[in-house]
Amino acid sequence: MVFKHDIVVVGAGLAGLRAALEAANSGEVALISKVYPTRSHSGAAQGGIAAALGNEEPDSWEWHMYDTVKGGDYLTDQDVAEILARDAPRAVYELEHWGVPFNRTAEGKIAQRAFGGHTREFGKGPVKRACYAADRSGRVMMDTLYFEAVRRGVRIYSEFQMLDLIMVAGRVAGIVVYELATGEVHCFHSRIVLLSTGGFGKVFRTTSNCFANTGDGVYLAYRSGIPLEDMEFVQFHPTGIYGLGVLISEAARGEGGILRNGSGEAFMERYAPTIKDLAPRDMVSRAIHMEILQGRGIDGRDFVHLDLTHLGEKRLRERLSDISSFVRIYLGIDPARDPIPVRPTCHYMMGGIPTDLDGRVLDAHHRPVPGLFAAGECACLSLHGANRLGCNSLLDLVVFGRRAGEAMATSLGELEWEDLPRNAQDPAVSRMKRVLDRREGDRAGVIRASLQKTMTENCSVFRREGSLEKALTEIRRLMDQYRRVKVDNRGKRFNADLLEALELESLLGLAEVIVVSAKARQESRGAHYREDFPERDDGGWLKHTLVRKTGEDPEVFFKSVRITRFEPKARTY
Ligand SMILES: Cc1cc2nc3c(=O)[nH]c(=O)nc-3n(C[C@H](O)[C@H](O)[C@H](O)COP(=O)(O)OP(=O)(O)OC[C@H]3O[C@@H](n4cnc5c(N)ncnc54)[C@H](O)[C@@H]3O)c2cc1C
Repeated sequence: MVFKHDIVVVGAGLAGLRAALEAANSGEVALISKVYPTRSHSGAAQGGIAAALGNEEPDSWEWHMYDTVKGGDYLTDQDVAEILARDAPRAVYELEHWGVPFNRTAEGKIAQRAFGGHTREFGKGPVKRACYAADRSGRVMMDTLYFEAVRRGVRIYSEFQMLDLIMVAGRVAGIVVYELATGEVHCFHSRIVLLSTGGFGKVFRTTSNCFANTGDGVYLAYRSGIPLEDMEFVQFHPTGIYGLGVLISEAARGEGGILRNGSGEAFMERYAPTIKDLAPRDMVSRAIHMEILQGRGIDGRDFVHLDLTHLGEKRLRERLSDISSFVRIYLGIDPARDPIPVRPTCHYMMGGIPTDLDGRVLDAHHRPVPGLFAAGECACLSLHGANRLGCNSLLDLVVFGRRAGEAMATSLGELEWEDLPRNAQDPAVSRMKRVLDRREGDRAGVIRASLQKTMTENCSVFRREGSLEKALTEIRRLMDQYRRVKVDNRGKRFNADLLEALELESLLGLAEVIVVSAKARQESRGAHYREDFPERDDGGWLKHTLVRKTGEDPEVFFKSVRITRFEPKARTY
């Protein structure tokens, strides 16, 4: 079947919803999601959304911009950070007016709390900048925006999975999708496609990300010849529940939680004397790993403690209730009485599909690809640089999701319909058929587990030439093994087995790009720490990495960083 809409938005997280509802008055918008829309990962966001409202203590957008640039270890394009910080208060009030139930101060203003790397007066100490709804900030934003998108007539296609991007002579013509409920393959014919498919934490063994975060949109863009930017910068969140990776939000430390090592020492004081436990995530994750490596984990083991016991039951119940219940359910402990065992977990991808300030996807010559847009975690605006600050992602989604929506609405006036190529769905159909028909080979789960193992062992918080080389060899071996991937379930309806096998292609392809980018960057910056090149090197490496697919091997090239206000300097906290 062929569906026809002016705009197809792929991904119904906050970025996709925000863009879709902005464009809904100007054209027919279809919103496609492989999971039921409100189950997108945005709904799992806990801690909050940053904006210099100054409701609880003085704050300014310039401090917010500075923190974003410094947090990103100066790889952030500063014009982007300026838009984010200036537009944040408007974006938060807009959410409030649509009905997001933020927590309140005693006078009825939006309440705010401290978060990692957010400071007052250009680094003098923590500032309360995160607006929140207990520890369910993403959940309430998702429900509100979903309602708003439906109200504005956005057409929702739930449980439709994109399998291909259809490009004709370098222009967008639509997408190919798989309908989970029927097993049928359809085409969407459109003038514009916006990719908002989220992150791909599933490349690693432990992650805070949901099951659906396999990076399909990013991989399909890459396969269509779009370069990927800054892919070596993978954020590991310091506090994943030990062994599971389920997130304990930074809000726990924002509310006063303290990290302790095996001897009970609050070790962050040694690594970041000014803001201690509220240092940015890259620094805290490295500190935890250092403590563990030097034998100071709990009982000498590979985790540390997050201590919330001094916060008291009332505060935990009011401000961190979901987190407290996760800890009770998954670990059987009471956070008001016992410290929580934690270690870093893969959390967020700073890199992705390069776009301009209005979500237009850029090709290898930095020119917009007609009709193709991207927003949210799958996009790389060069906003988060080498390390994203907490609460800046939700903000990115609504600020730049809206801008992408506006730009799509304007572009409709300029873009013609491309003819849909005949049999556009054939390549996807034959890919699936090959997998379904195969009797001999390996299951996707086996290959995926090996991929996650090698990425976790060789390309996580610490990296070096040898480990990256090892990861690359293993990934290429697994890509070869993937040519013989087989499934047990050959049914047509809700064949999760088949979809996981197809998603594994994205995970393998993206893992290769992450490792190739990490190998190329011979310095340490933000979340990318090379043991063989431990210093930041602005002379050689103050530039963005781009990787594109040419023939078999990915090609690496670079582009410069836009610096407007803050000259790079040593990054201490
Ligand atoms: C546990 C957790 C807590 C977080 N807390 C915070 C926080 O407090 N503050 C903050 O700023 N950030 C937080 N983050 C980060 C932030 O939530 C994410 O970066 C953000 O929600 C990503 O939003 P998105 O719209 O880009 O994508 P997502 O919300 O991940 O949505 C992706 C969408 O793409 C769809 N999709 C994917 N592939 C396909 C396909 N092939 N076909 C069709 N549809 C597809 C999915 O169905 C889904 O609808 C948190 C992240 C996690 C994991």
